[in-house]
Amino acid sequence: MENIDPWGASQIKNYAAMREHFGIDEFNFNLENNRFSERSLIMGHRDFNLIQSAMEKKMKFYAMTGLMPSGEMHLGNKAVMEMMIYFQSRGAELHIAVADLESYATRDIDLISAKDIAVENFLLNYIAMGLKPCNFYFQSENSKVQKFANVISNEVNFSEMKSIYGFEDSKKMLEINSPIIQASDILSPQVYGEPAPTIVPIGADQDPHIRLTRDITQRLSMLRIQESRGTRISIGGRGDTHILEDIAEEVMRRHGITKIMRNRKYRILESPESPDSMISFSIDLAKAEREHNPYAAIPPSSAILRLETGIKGGKMSKSVPDSTISLNETPVEAGKKIMRALTGGRESIEEQRKLGGNPYSCPVYELYMYHLSRDSAHLKKVEEECLSGERLCGSCKKEASDLMGNMLTDLKEKREASRHLVKEFLEFGSSQ
Ligand code: SF4
Repeated sequence: MENIDPWGASQIKNYAAMREHFGIDEFNFNLENNRFSERSLIMGHRDFNLIQSAMEKKMKFYAMTGLMPSGEMHLGNKAVMEMMIYFQSRGAELHIAVADLESYATRDIDLISAKDIAVENFLLNYIAMGLKPCNFYFQSENSKVQKFANVISNEVNFSEMKSIYGFEDSKKMLEINSPIIQASDILSPQVYGEPAPTIVPIGADQDPHIRLTRDITQRLSMLRIQESRGTRISIGGRGDTHILEDIAEEVMRRHGITKIMRNRKYRILESPESPDSMISFSIDLAKAEREHNPYAAIPPSSAILRLETGIKGGKMSKSVPDSTISLNETPVEAGKKIMRALTGGRESIEEQRKLGGNPYSCPVYELYMYHLSRDSAHLKKVEEECLSGERLCGSCKKEASDLMGNMLTDLKEKREASRHLVKEFLEFGSSQ
C-alpha cells in the first residue's frame, strides 16, 4: 500500500488493506446516538477502548481537532466536527486548533485573512451545528503549543518525515514542520494539563499525523505500556532505571498486579497479570512519571472516518470545488451540483426498474448516509427502494437536493443567530 498524503486529492480504495498495512483496528464499538457508528462510517480506530472507558466511567478525556483556514467549510469537514460535538456531549474537554501556520505555509494565506476565514467559514458553522464554548485557538498565537513543538522537533528527523509524508527536498521548513506543530496541538492538553486519554476524530487521510504523534508520545515517555498478554512496561531514557522501575512497580501494585518481574538488561517490567482497569492504570502511570518527566502523556486515540466520495467521484476535497458542497453555499447552487452528481444507477429507466441501482457505489447515497438521512429508517428506505428498482435516480437526487437545501437554510439561520457567541469562544480560547 502506498503512503497516504493528507494534503492530496486521491481517494482511499481499500480500507481493509489500509487497516492491515498501518496496524489500525476495526471499529466495533456501538456509540450511542451516533449515526457514523450506527452506519459503519468509522473504518477503524487506535486505542478507542480508552475513550469508551472514559465515557462509560465519566472520567476526564480530551477531544482534539484542527482546521486549516484555507477556504470554505464543506461537507467533507462536517463529519469530524459532528464527532467532536458528539464527544463534547459525552463529557470531553474540547480543543480546536486553527492551523493558520499551516495555511500560511501550504496555501500562502496570511495570518489576518486566516483569522477571518476561521471565524466566518468554520467557527460560525461549528456553533450553528451545536458546539459549546471550548478551547478554540490559533497556532500562531499559542506560545505553549509552539514551545512544545520545538521540544518535539528534537525527536524527529527529516528522513522520517520524508518516509511518512513523501516530502521532497524543495519543501519549505514551515511545511515540513506543520505535522510537528499538529502533534504539539494534540499533546498540549495533556502536557500543559494532566495526562488523560485524548480522542482525535479524523478522516482516513489524516492517519499519518496520528501515527507520528503516537510515536512521538512513546519517544518522550519513560514508562511505556507495551502490548502483551499480561502487563509489560518498557523503560526509556539512558540512565539508571532503578527509580523508574520503583515508580512503575508501585503503580502496578496499586492496580492489583502482584507477580512482577524486573528485567534490567532489557529495561522491562512484566507480569502475567493485567491491571484491574487499563484506563486508570495508563493515567496513573503517566501521572506518576510526571514527577520525573514533564512530557509524560498517553498516546492519542483516534476514530477514523471513511472519506466521503466526491459528488462526481474521487475524493471529496475543497481543492476540487465541484466535488463537494460548501456549508455557506445557497440551496440553489447545492441543488444544481447534486442534480449533476454521479450515481450508482443503470443506463436506462427500464434497466433500473428491472435490476435496481447500486447505492453502495453512489455518491448521492453517501450524501444520505453522512448528512441527509437523520434516522436509520429513512436511510433503509432509500437503500431498499434503490436496490429494488422502485427508486429512480432523478427523483432520488431531487429529494437529496431538497433535504440539502433545508439543511443549508437551517445552518444559515443558526449561523446568523450565533454571531454574538463568537466573542465568547475567542475569549475562552485566549484565556487557556
Ligand atoms: S436511486 Fe438514488 S441511491 Fe440509487 S443509484 Fe440512483 S441516486 Fe443512487
